[in-house]
Amino acid sequence: EASRFPKRMLFYTPSMSDGMADRLSLEQELHQALANNEFFLEYQPQVNLKNGKIESVEALVRWQHPTRGQVSPSIFIPIAEESGLIIQLGEYVLEAACLQAKAWQELGLPKMKIAVNLSLGQLFQKNLVSKVEDILIRTKLEPHYLQLEITESMTMNIDQMTLLLRELKSLGIQIAVDDFGTGYSSLSYLKDFPIDCLKIDRVFVRNIQHDKNDEALVSMILSMAKHLRLKVVAEGIEEINQLAFFLEGECDYIQGYLFSKPITAEQLVATFEELHLH
Ligand code: C2E
Ligand code: CA
Ligand code: CA
Ligand code: CA
Repeated sequence: EASRFPKRMLFYTPSMSDGMADRLSLEQELHQALANNEFFLEYQPQVNLKNGKIESVEALVRWQHPTRGQVSPSIFIPIAEESGLIIQLGEYVLEAACLQAKAWQELGLPKMKIAVNLSLGQLFQKNLVSKVEDILIRTKLEPHYLQLEITESMTMNIDQMTLLLRELKSLGIQIAVDDFGTGYSSLSYLKDFPIDCLKIDRVFVRNIQHDKNDEALVSMILSMAKHLRLKVVAEGIEEINQLAFFLEGECDYIQGYLFSKPITAEQLVATFEELHLH
């Protein structure tokens, strides 16, 4: 009878086995991908709503897999986090992003901030601050052009987090809270954490025209941020009426498909050349 079989056998299904095998091989392929240079970055502009200028870009990692094609970061980042590979991958992303920001400056583009996503695993890394410092020195990027995006999390206590963020800030870089409003942490950290910017998550932006609750929440975030002197980036702006809402609410920056999808470094240069010519 069933009880004579190992427990996991009871849950065995062909589809699950496929999924697990796939995950396992993705994890192995991730290791090779770093060595084989299969990762690159795309950049999504963040537009200042006061002057319409691109003043910063978010770096987003891409994996060009030799046979699978492009694999989405929402698939491979969690695997990289669980396997610990995120430390190496994160370091690659940080260095490549800072190098690129410096290269754009040297090409004569307007100076822009570069926003880089940090995973929780990286925040727990003991030498994170000196790693970031090393990369800034190596790439010669002035620290105030680097913004690190962190997500709200319950796994690090407030004192630990405050200490870490203070150390990072002492390098002269900026800190943004990503996906703001989707986590469970208390609002009180906003007054203690040395942060510069809140990014309003796309889930609140999506229905802003149709959902009174989303609208109330976003308005509350905007006014709170103003009182706390934090900048706000609205993410996932796809429609003109969403833009209108954030213009009205005096949001600082927007990021979304309406203005630009994430693009390659070359495409970003071309965008600036067009802006100059016309
Ligand atoms: P995120 O940090 O919240 O990044 C924003 C995501 O929203 C990006 O997806 C971007 O392409 C997408 N997006 C931007 N504007 C729009 C829009 O108007 N409409 C829609 N539907 N989507 C929009 P992407 O590049 O697939 O990245 C997904 C997530 O993967 C990121 O979410 C982030 O959590 C993670 N990720 C990406 N790159 C990195 C990285 O270098 N390091 C780490 N740790 N995580 C990364
Ligand atoms: Ca982000
Ligand atoms: Ca986000
Ligand atoms: Ca997100």
